[in-house]
Amino acid sequence: MCHVLQDPAFFHFLTRIDEEFAAVTRLGRCPGCEGPLHVADYPRKPRGCPAAVREDYSWRLSFTCGRCDGRATSPSVRFAGRRVYLAVVLMLSSPPRSSSSQALCDLLSIPARTLKRWRTWWRKDFPSTPFWQSVRERLMPPVLSEQLPHSLLERFEVGERADRLAMALRFIAPLSTRATTK
Ligand SMILES: [Zn+2]
Repeated sequence: MCHVLQDPAFFHFLTRIDEEFAAVTRLGRCPGCEGPLHVADYPRKPRGCPAAVREDYSWRLSFTCGRCDGRATSPSVRFAGRRVYLAVVLMLSSPPRSSSSQALCDLLSIPARTLKRWRTWWRKDFPSTPFWQSVRERLMPPVLSEQLPHSLLERFEVGERADRLAMALRFIAPLSTRATTK
């Protein structure tokens, strides 16, 4: 499972998806005042990506309004809110006691308390988000919240693992702009 996390091509692929999201946001107007948007990426300190893509992953694609200075940040398949670990790590970190997730934690030195927090987020916070409430009924058979995120990943059983992961990350990308620190 960890080989995906060591493959720069996979991370470049996610960057291209983020660039597509950003291009869509760029075409719109400020959500606050309908003013024009300007590029205003902001720095991030990413954890969980290969060194080869670190520079790329040190920037969150974002915009500010030329009129009211409000920020408009496009969704992301790379960053999950304010977490330092990338979204793909969050997605692969469960089920927490499986050998693959253990290997992942060892590889990235993820602290046990961080894992515990993610687990709580997947089991409690994620199922109660308006996003999940609005999409869960489209998934048949239903995704069991006790088995998130594994049960969600299982819904994307097509193609290569990297493609499945990218699809799952794209699916939950609407949550990526929420200001969560969990
Ligand atoms: Zn504005």
